[in-house]
Amino acid sequence: MVRIYREKEADLSLIKDRVVAVIGYGNQGRSQALNMRDSGLKVIVGSVKDESWDRAEKDEFEVVSISQAAEKANIVFVLLPDEVAPEIFNKDIYPHLKEKDVLVLASGYNIYYGYLRVPEFVDLVLLAPRMIGKAVRDLYVSGKGAPSLIGVGQDFSGKAKQIVLALAKGIGSTKIGAIESSFEEETKADLFGEQVRGACLVFMRRLAFEILVEAGCSPEVAVLELYASGEDVETLRAAAEQGLWAQLKLHSQTSQYGQLTRGPRIANEQIKEIFRKMMQDIETGAFAKEWTLEQQSGKSVLGRLWSLGLNHPLIEAENRVFKLLGER
Ligand code: NDP
Repeated sequence: MVRIYREKEADLSLIKDRVVAVIGYGNQGRSQALNMRDSGLKVIVGSVKDESWDRAEKDEFEVVSISQAAEKANIVFVLLPDEVAPEIFNKDIYPHLKEKDVLVLASGYNIYYGYLRVPEFVDLVLLAPRMIGKAVRDLYVSGKGAPSLIGVGQDFSGKAKQIVLALAKGIGSTKIGAIESSFEEETKADLFGEQVRGACLVFMRRLAFEILVEAGCSPEVAVLELYASGEDVETLRAAAEQGLWAQLKLHSQTSQYGQLTRGPRIANEQIKEIFRKMMQDIETGAFAKEWTLEQQSGKSVLGRLWSLGLNHPLIEAENRVFKLLGER
């Protein structure tokens, strides 16, 4: 069974004299930096001169260039977008790493696929919150904390596990739970999870929209029924808090019967085979290779898919619904 670490298993005093550099002050960087400072750690921010730099200064952090931050710190959080992290790491961070420094990543992607290689004289750890950055901060402030996956990729100091646990405490994760994982597991779960969510949230609903309209429903009613009412937010919250099956009890028996007899017609062996193929593409690196090529060729496929999506009649209907409902 998976191991979960809580407050008493993590010791902040282990890192209280070290300097933590947060490289990248975006979704995760800002929240994690604020949380660690509030936990009593000495945190500086490394950034390029842009809005992120200004925001970190406004939040009263010492802000320096990325290379200066890597030079000054003993613990370096690389909280840059995964697509740009390897290049910036090789240019501005790697040359400044010292023996027994600790490198912290919030995603397994670049390590699992070998896009980012670290020297053998540092610790390499994973601290990956399972929440968007805003929630990492809000949950810390409310005293609950956001859960994180933790892992050790390289243990030069012999203390990498205790250090990542202390850092997990610093960002608030051990309040709810720091879950033992690895760079490999985080990558597979993260990529597969987001791809499946995209299929269900966007594409299955768009098909359902087309069928409702074919059946004579107005596009506005279809959009409201399928997502704009916000009913699913409550259903998902119930699933997260009470269980996937238990949330069914919140629906009428007519609804339960319809869901339980019709659901398996979609979620069948053929779909499972498609899911299996998606996972194979993740495990073999085919997806990552495809995405790297897409970035190198100017993200033309991504741009085309965005305009196709935005040209679907669902978007016009959705805009009308938002107008009708006003500010919510
Ligand atoms: P963001 O997209 O918010 O960007 C982080 C920072 O990187 C910003 O300050 C941005 O500055 C800076 N940045 C972007 N491009 C460059 C560049 N070319 N050179 C220098 N700085 C740059 O990233 P996230 O916080 O979303 O992600 C950080 C890490 O956390 C990733 O590994 C991600 O996988 C992981 N993660 C993210 C989650 C999320 O909720 N977003 C959840 C869990 C993990 P600016 O935009 O001002 O240029």
